[in-house]
Amino acid sequence: MNKLLEIKNLSKNYNTKLGEIKAIDNISFDVYDQEFLCIIGSSGCGKSTLLNILADLDNFSSGKIIKNKNLKIGYMLQDDCLLPWLNILDNALLGLDIMNLKTKENINYVKGLLKKYGLEEFLEKYPNQLSGGMRQRVALIRTLAIKPDILLLDEPFSALDYMSRLVVSEDVANIIKQEKKTVIMITHDIAEALSLADRIIVLSKRPAVIKNIYNINLEGNSPLSRRKAKNFAYYYDLLWKDLDKNV
Ligand code: ADP
Ligand code: MG
Repeated sequence: MNKLLEIKNLSKNYNTKLGEIKAIDNISFDVYDQEFLCIIGSSGCGKSTLLNILADLDNFSSGKIIKNKNLKIGYMLQDDCLLPWLNILDNALLGLDIMNLKTKENINYVKGLLKKYGLEEFLEKYPNQLSGGMRQRVALIRTLAIKPDILLLDEPFSALDYMSRLVVSEDVANIIKQEKKTVIMITHDIAEALSLADRIIVLSKRPAVIKNIYNINLEGNSPLSRRKAKNFAYYYDLLWKDLDKNV
């Protein structure tokens, strides 16, 4: 399998007024082309810090990140972050606009994605006229617009209610598979990670170290069907025991 990213002995300390806070401690893992990698860990353990570093939004204290210099990384945050005063098409084009890449070809690519994923009738509508699930789809398409090789998703469903999360997971998994993307997704929801991931990395409480990396083999070709797989409970139990609890 083709390696897209190698993270070697990565550590990160924050310097604060109260002294140094060690957030990440000597983490190493690889990311392979077209895999769905989930990272789970308790709240405050250093998950977002890790994604911010991978997205080049934050620096790190020591270690190495090895990647092809042409590798494009797309980042989708917790909230859908759609701008209420822009219509759906302009929201989906926002990333391209900011990067000065709003070419005719790219605009057509985004329109094509919106059409393909059931948003054709909503191009002129505004975010508050869409359901939470549809907004999430627009946010994902906006991230896909720059044609990233790797998508970083930081708890992408946490703002949604339980039912919507299940529906949106189906949507997102389907889009990611069809567009053949590589994903690193953070969540603290074990079942959600199991329903989506090819591999799961379990982080300890802060400072985050890797406790285990699991290959997940669950029958089913969608998140909902994977939740019904025979060995789902087996993996759930394994991860639950591994996870440091913040209580
Ligand atoms: P998670 O996403 O796993 O909930 P974060 O990566 O956001 O956790 O934070 C990890 C730890 O680092 C937390 O204890 C947090 O308080 C600390 N931290 C995060 N950002 C900063 C910062 N800018 N300055 C100082 N400490 C920070
Ligand atoms: Mg976080």
